[in-house]
Parts: sequence; C-alpha cells; structure tokens
Amino acid sequence: MSKHRHIVAIVGRPNVGKSSLFNRFVGRRDAIVDDKPGITRDRHYAMCEWNGKHFHVVDTGGIMPTSVELFDLAIREQAEIAIAESDVILFVVDAKTGVTDIDLQIAKILRSVDKPILLAVNKVDQTEDNHSVYAFYQLGLGEPIPVSAMVGRASGDLLDLVVEKIPGDASEQVEDERIHVAIIGKENVGKSSFVNAIIGEN
Ligand code: GDP
Repeated sequence: MSKHRHIVAIVGRPNVGKSSLFNRFVGRRDAIVDDKPGITRDRHYAMCEWNGKHFHVVDTGGIMPTSVELFDLAIREQAEIAIAESDVILFVVDAKTGVTDIDLQIAKILRSVDKPILLAVNKVDQTEDNHSVYAFYQLGLGEPIPVSAMVGRASGDLLDLVVEKIPGDASEQVEDERIHVAIIGKENVGKSSFVNAIIGEN
C-alpha cells in the first residue's frame, strides 16, 4: 500500500492572493496571478518541503461564476474539495477588502469541518496594517494570521504553523505512484469538459 500523502489546501474567494501564497510556498511563479478577478484557472498541485516535513500544496484556484447561485455552488464545491482531499486547510482572506459575505459563507462551511484550519489574512504588507486582522476574528476560525504574499512577509511563519498542523509522520517524501495522463489539444476543443466528465468534478 502506498504511503499517505499530506495535502494542504489553500481556499478562499478569488483575488485574495491564494496563487501568490502558493507561489511563495513552492518558491516559484507557476500559478497564474492576474489583476482581473474571474480569471478561470485550474487547480495547482506542488510538492513542498518545510522544516523537514513533506507535503503537497494545492491552490484550489478561483472561478468567478456569473450568477449568485453559481457562486454559491462554486464555493461549496471548493470547500468540499478541500474537505475531502486535504489534511490541513489554509483559508485565505484579504486585509484590504475586510470581511466579505463570501468570506462569511466559506467560514460557515469550514466551521463544520473536522480538520485543522488556519486563517491567513493576506495583503498585510506592513506591520502598521496589522490592526486590520482583528475584524477577521468574527469568522470564528481562531486567530487570524497576518501575511503578505506580495512582499513575502511572514510566509515562513505561516509555513511553520502549517507543518505543525500536519498530522502524523511527514518526514518522507511520498511520490505520487498513480499513472499520469496528459490531455493535450488546442484551445476550445473540450479538454476541460472531457476531464470533468471523467473525474466527475468541475
Ligand atoms: P487568488 O485569486 O486568490 O489566487 O489571488 P492572486 O494570487 O491571483 O492575487 C490577486 C491580486 O492580489 C493580484 O493582483 C496580486 O498581485 C494581489 N496580491 C496578492 N498578494 C498580495 C499581497 O500580499 N499584498 C498586496 N498588496 N497585493 C497582493
């Protein structure tokens, strides 16, 4: 039997800086970061090692649906993916916008999840902005942790907390032994729909 891979899922509404944090964690810039909210992205997985612990980090991406109902659905789906697949959930919110309705909705779902959750308040670019984190206590997910993916502030401290929460032994790198299949083709031929149909997920 293959060993358990430890997975840390980054969740949160679009544009809070999930991809930027993911890039900080994995030390490269391969996730798409864009100023425009609503850019459609795929989920990103990467191997990460911190303090001798190995884990996979998944950026659950961000699809901004066009209607309120679809938005609800997307949030639920994202939370469900996080719940099902991860060992630790990193919920990212945005200090510049403060608490939004969507944050409250995501928090509500996450409060019912029996997994370690960390609440990162991103875009706290300077120490003087630290006060902006207090509002996030109302999410009921414990202490909000100020970080800045952009300037790299506290991303190491955040990783310390993340690996602390990883249950069990993560001292060995566990390779993914499953068969990797690449689906290639030009734009708009239906690659994504095909993959969605096979795996039964969006
Ligand atoms: P995602 O949709 O949650 O993955 O967010 P992105 O990582 O794509 O970031 C959304 C926007 O926020 C981009 O314009 C980033 O440059 C910006 N951003 C990300 N992190 C920070 C940060 O720590 N501080 C500031 N000021 N902007 C940030």
